[in-house]
Amino acid sequence: MEEGVSLERALEIADEHGIQSGKEQVAIGDASGRVLASDLASKVDDPRFDNSAMDGWAVRAADCTVPGATLEVVGTSQAGSSSTHRVGEGQACSIMTGAPVPDGADAIVMIEDTDTDGSTVTINGPARVNYIRKRGENLREGGVALSSGSLLTPAAVSLAATMGHGSLEVVAKPRIAVIGVGDELTLPGEELGDASIYESNTYGIASLISKVGGMPKRYDLIHDSMDLLREALDDASQSCDAIITSGGVSMGEWDIVRRIMEEEGEVRFWRVMMRPGGPPLFGTWAGTPIFGLPGNPVSSHVVFTVLVAPWICRSMGAHRESGPRLANRVRVVMEEPLRGAPGKLCMRRISIRQEGESLVGSTSTHQGSGNIHSMVAHNGLSLLPPDTDAASGDTIDALWLI
Ligand code: AMP
Ligand code: MG
Repeated sequence: MEEGVSLERALEIADEHGIQSGKEQVAIGDASGRVLASDLASKVDDPRFDNSAMDGWAVRAADCTVPGATLEVVGTSQAGSSSTHRVGEGQACSIMTGAPVPDGADAIVMIEDTDTDGSTVTINGPARVNYIRKRGENLREGGVALSSGSLLTPAAVSLAATMGHGSLEVVAKPRIAVIGVGDELTLPGEELGDASIYESNTYGIASLISKVGGMPKRYDLIHDSMDLLREALDDASQSCDAIITSGGVSMGEWDIVRRIMEEEGEVRFWRVMMRPGGPPLFGTWAGTPIFGLPGNPVSSHVVFTVLVAPWICRSMGAHRESGPRLANRVRVVMEEPLRGAPGKLCMRRISIRQEGESLVGSTSTHQGSGNIHSMVAHNGLSLLPPDTDAASGDTIDALWLI
């Protein structure tokens, strides 16, 4: 077991125990937001045939070199119909956007640049070769245009459909157990006892899991009982691919997640040199990877964002650049000073906004790690290296939360 590791080291250790992700076939209509599990080659050329990029007239460019040229109309080429027309010397064919370019034509004149009486058309503007979209200029049949590990964004889904795929092989959603631990916790909506508080973390963590493409399974709250916790962990390790607990990983006597993991599980690291979120724990329970997240709501959110989410995404084989993620790394000019943390990566909540050419960062609410409102009132996290403060006007690394 390693204690007090850097975030980079924590990621390295966690990666040694990734989730074993499976694959499944889904209909293209259900593929949005999933991660592609195999390279996708096009079943067709795109465009499938030379077609017009404009409503207008298919012509021979050589017939349109002088303004006011008049050409004989030979017919119409419409999108969806196979054109049987042929454009000879001195002729033109009316054409719609997306319709096949008739044989013989080599350029298009925009409809706005023409006049017609039905049997002839007068050309008042340029005949352009590049108004013809050439067969295969976007994609070639057999060419891979989406690679395994890509997030199926709306544009990627559209591309997969363009390539002719009615169903796609995607990474199966990892099933991730979420277990909240703490005597003081009461479900929102229920009656609060004198010293109890509403439980919030498991809902936040479950939402984060869904957001990176996993399938959360929330367990009943564990009220500081080793036996109930053991039962939940056993069930979770049987039915899920990974386990996330919230609370009970600090130094206290009642920090039963840490205790049960030390006594009966396998701990790989405990405590990461970061603030907030210092005490996370990682290991395995009956062979299933488990993250013990701290109970403070901001801490659990931040640890998930910088540690658990990248781990889940890598386990799924997702690309770093085109896979799911919860934040983008940016450079931000601080509007006010920001205090770092001795020996720890410091992730303060900041608001990031565009101002002119730069991104500007500021803070508003109280920064305490118990204040989940600070995660809603801000949209970013500072990435201040250990022992580093930022002065007003300094440019710092930050995460812009999505
Ligand atoms: P712990 O990590 O269990 O020591 O908890 C640290 C702080 O987070 C305490 O103030 C807890 O009351 C609070 N806390 C723990 N678990 C949750 C939870 N699931 N939802 C909201 N707050 C929590
Ligand atoms: Mg507790």
